[in-house]
Amino acid sequence: MGSIKVAINGFGTIGKRVADAIDAQEDMEVSGVTKTGPSFGCELAIKKGFPLYCTFDDDDRISQFSKKGYSCVGGLSDLLAISDVVVDCSPGKLGAENLEKYQSAGIKYIFQGGEKHELTGLSYTSSANHLENLNAIGTRVVSCNTTGLSRTLVPLFEHCGSLKVECTMIRRAADPGDSGKGPINAIKPVLKVPSHHGPDVMTVKPEIEINSLAVAVPTTIMHVHSIIADLPKGHGLDTDSILRMWTDTPRVIIMNGLEDRIPTTAEVMEMARDIGRKWGDLHEIFVWEDGVKLVGDRLYYFQAIHQESDVIPENVDCIRALMGVEGDWRKSVLRTDEAISRYYST
Ligand code: NAD
Repeated sequence: MGSIKVAINGFGTIGKRVADAIDAQEDMEVSGVTKTGPSFGCELAIKKGFPLYCTFDDDDRISQFSKKGYSCVGGLSDLLAISDVVVDCSPGKLGAENLEKYQSAGIKYIFQGGEKHELTGLSYTSSANHLENLNAIGTRVVSCNTTGLSRTLVPLFEHCGSLKVECTMIRRAADPGDSGKGPINAIKPVLKVPSHHGPDVMTVKPEIEINSLAVAVPTTIMHVHSIIADLPKGHGLDTDSILRMWTDTPRVIIMNGLEDRIPTTAEVMEMARDIGRKWGDLHEIFVWEDGVKLVGDRLYYFQAIHQESDVIPENVDCIRALMGVEGDWRKSVLRTDEAISRYYST
């Protein structure tokens, strides 16, 4: 098969990152990206050489782009017509409306975690259910929190055969580029109890019994998860072997808060900037080694999630699953990550 042509519908926080990650791969290309109208994000699309389309098909809206000096190739329908798969990166809750457009264009589709599982009836994260998504028409890459929980819980579950989890999501209030959200001087509990975050893991790994609480705190850079997992009797693990298991798990970084002098999310993000990916992204889930402890059969740990970027490589693997070109999730992950690494080192 030739290069997979990928449309990005919505070129915001997630869309621009997914576009770069696809551009990095040898087996796929960005067929175009959409913007609702001329705005500062168009500049980036043009600079990268991504064909720019309008989110809508009407001529009035398309013509607004040229008035601001941006060359717009056409409307969403034109883009869908030349693509194999669309990655929907629109703000959450627009899914139902957009799904109809994808279905009538007869194109494969991937939604993001702002949409509910019920929209597609199928969800995706590479370590949990790549095979289940092989050759599917459409799916949803789960949210940043669900992706993070899956990365560390799925290998534990696979070793133990069962797992009961209680966790608290300490959530960033807003993304760095978002001036419209808060709180700025308060801690805001999510009063819908339990929160949707933990149970969302069961859309990709139903066998994990998990519940969560969530609070939003005045920070923009990362989420932190505080996790308690009850392992079944006879699991045969200790704290060190759990750390080794995660060391061998793709897209998990383990560092020692005290010894590596990386005690908070501020230092974690500074380390991420040192890696050199654009926007200072951290695709990996960060686990503090000295915050992991197995007491009896109960495991305690903390992990940090770069909310804007942990789902980005998952979208690339998900495209390979939907297009049926790679059935082995570990091979896809390796291919995705090596290509991204080369892309940012040149
Ligand atoms: P965003 O607001 O930064 O970007 C959304 C983009 O879509 C904007 O450019 C907007 O103009 C455009 N848009 C508006 N209406 C549209 C429409 N009808 N069709 C297509 N595009 C439209 O949002 P985001 O943070 O990139 O979130 C996108 C999705 O990814 C959501 O489902 C969100 O829940 C999910 N997600 C976000 C994060 C995060 O931290 N930002 C993390 C994981 C998943």
